[in-house]
Amino acid sequence: MSENYLKEMYSSLGISEEVFDFSAAVVAQLKERFAGIDEVAEYNQLKVLKAMQKHQVSEACLLGTTGYGYNDLGRDTLEEVYASVFHTEAALVRPQITCGTHALALALMSNLRPGDELLSPVGKPYDTLEEVIGIRPSKGSLAEYGVTYKQVDLLPDGSFDFENIRKSINEKTKLVTIQRSKGYQTRPTLSVERIGEVISFIKGIKPDIICMVDNCYGEFVETKEPSDVGADMVVGSLIKNPGGGLAPIGGYIAGKKECVENAAYRLTSPGLGKEVGASLGILPQFYQGFFLAPTVTAGALKGAIFAANVYEKLGFTVVPNGSESRHDIIQAVTFGTEEGVVAFCQGIQAAAPVDSHVVPEPWDMPGYDAKVIMAAGAFVSGSSIELSADGPIKPPFAVYFQGGLTWQHARFGITKSLQTLVDKGIVSLKNL
Ligand SMILES: *Cc1c(COP(=O)(O)O)cnc(C)c1O
Repeated sequence: MSENYLKEMYSSLGISEEVFDFSAAVVAQLKERFAGIDEVAEYNQLKVLKAMQKHQVSEACLLGTTGYGYNDLGRDTLEEVYASVFHTEAALVRPQITCGTHALALALMSNLRPGDELLSPVGKPYDTLEEVIGIRPSKGSLAEYGVTYKQVDLLPDGSFDFENIRKSINEKTKLVTIQRSKGYQTRPTLSVERIGEVISFIKGIKPDIICMVDNCYGEFVETKEPSDVGADMVVGSLIKNPGGGLAPIGGYIAGKKECVENAAYRLTSPGLGKEVGASLGILPQFYQGFFLAPTVTAGALKGAIFAANVYEKLGFTVVPNGSESRHDIIQAVTFGTEEGVVAFCQGIQAAAPVDSHVVPEPWDMPGYDAKVIMAAGAFVSGSSIELSADGPIKPPFAVYFQGGLTWQHARFGITKSLQTLVDKGIVSLKNL
């Protein structure tokens, strides 16, 4: 197919020839990199398929249960499939786990006891975990239950502060939490290899420490997962990568049998554990979403790399930059002005399959200290494996965006964001 067909289609969706040509030139330069991403996706596709075949996923697995959910074949088999993919002894994969924060809170609260200490050797954890831990006082936090917390920040160059990690480990240290993705911080995302290094170091000091990894946004970006390099638990959300865009709710914890059982007893009840918890009608989406997750993640990853290269060429600061290796699907672009942040988000929204006709505006969201603008036209509300963006209206005026169920959609969304910036006179392609 000649590029002209595509250009005409883009034109019919409001993209000028100038913007199309600019973005097409960026795409052309990324061919080799994208081929590498496709290879990872192919490997991970087969990894998921192999696990589904090994556990004999059958038509009966897709049916689901109601009420107590005893003997839910589909639920139990799906948990075995997750355990196989993550190479762990067990997994808990449930719609009753309401989001990523809940999954992480569950993993922590079920494996820590009063008097224990939690350590983060990679700096401040994700915002919502501050209340789970009690860094910001909150009802029901670990701090209220007598669990203390220590944190060792990364060194200015992004490396681990091994000396202070060693000093922070004491007889109370029971669990270490390692966040793979940078989330909304500026530190680099950790590769699986680097996670392995810090886990070996910690286990070398105190072998029985439970090492948990917040795996949000990292699943299937590499061929290995943190559980392949010593993590005792990996935890994440099903409305991000592993749900493949189809799971409408849910979270997972995969890891050592004892850790997962503790989580199950906390999720349901002591004595009941994994035996209860009806899957209702949700299993087809969980299975099919997990099956699609490697390729969906690859599409989102290509979109992030494309955006980094587009906006880097235009002179904006992008994290990660256009050429560095990727360990999660989040992209940050610093525009430096409110207008830039707003135009970008409005462009992403205008490219959505749902609610493309609405125009997002900055608003005072509860829990934030500045106005925030969010773009999300998703099939699953709040899903961040779907193309979505948000930006706090405060310096440095950066947007964070992620997702795209297909590379083709991610490409269009980012091109639309650029068109919006051009239309508003915020950027010009004239002198490039
Ligand atoms: C999204 C995210 C969470 C929390 O997940 P929610 O589903 O939003 O509660 C935790 N940690 C990281 C790194 C995340 O990206």
